[in-house]
Amino acid sequence: MATVMSSADSRPADAATSVNIALSKGRILEESLPLLARAGIRPVEDPLTTRKLILDTSLPQVKLTIIRAADVPTYVKFGAADLGIAGKDVLMEYEGDGLYELLDLGIARCRLAVAEPASLASRDDPRVWTRVRVATKYVNITRRHFAAKGIQTDIIKLYGSMELAPLVGLSERIVDLVSSGQTLKANGLVEVEHIADISAWLVANKAAMKMKRAALKRVVDELSAAVGSK
Ligand code: ATP
Ligand code: MG
Repeated sequence: MATVMSSADSRPADAATSVNIALSKGRILEESLPLLARAGIRPVEDPLTTRKLILDTSLPQVKLTIIRAADVPTYVKFGAADLGIAGKDVLMEYEGDGLYELLDLGIARCRLAVAEPASLASRDDPRVWTRVRVATKYVNITRRHFAAKGIQTDIIKLYGSMELAPLVGLSERIVDLVSSGQTLKANGLVEVEHIADISAWLVANKAAMKMKRAALKRVVDELSAAVGSK
């Protein structure tokens, strides 16, 4: 067994106590850092500038893994990370289970919405839609949202800049995240349907929650207290 012997003042840094947290650069990282700091977890290097993808922290047993936002559920599901911080949008879009959604962190708040050009919205009524063409990166969420209302969808999968689609004639409607609405407005679009309120959640690998219960619980409890003390 590869266990580092513990001395009187250090814990064994073995597999049962190590905690790997996956999170993404960008908004999630920016808003997670203050929360992690209140939970006593501070990266030893500046995660906004370093090129390293695995960061040591002020807690010897805790590491941060920096990956693409949409990959966080996959890393956590397969145990490549014990915990993860992911937007509810990413979790709703992810196909597959194997994750515990433990805690709403209350950060990176926004909403998922259907939007279309203001000129169309002025004479449009979502209640009479029977078939819509929609550009989005949220293919699964979009299909589910409209299917629940008996509306057929022709979905155009994009990887970003959804607001562009109506301007170039790809589709009149889009499904995208909205926070202030400034990006929509700048592109002549308006929100016509609310799909879901979004925030970032702490998720956990199911097996790790059993095998490393004590180590994970310590981190989860600290984060939970940090959320509550905001
Ligand atoms: P990339 O930019 O690498 O293509 P991404 O667009 O998924 O990936 P971000 O823009 O950082 O990366 O978004 C990550 C998460 O942050 C989203 O899944 C969402 O939960 C949240 N988020 C995105 N945009 C906003 C916003 N305008 N306001 C609040 N939260 C947001
Ligand atoms: Mg983005």
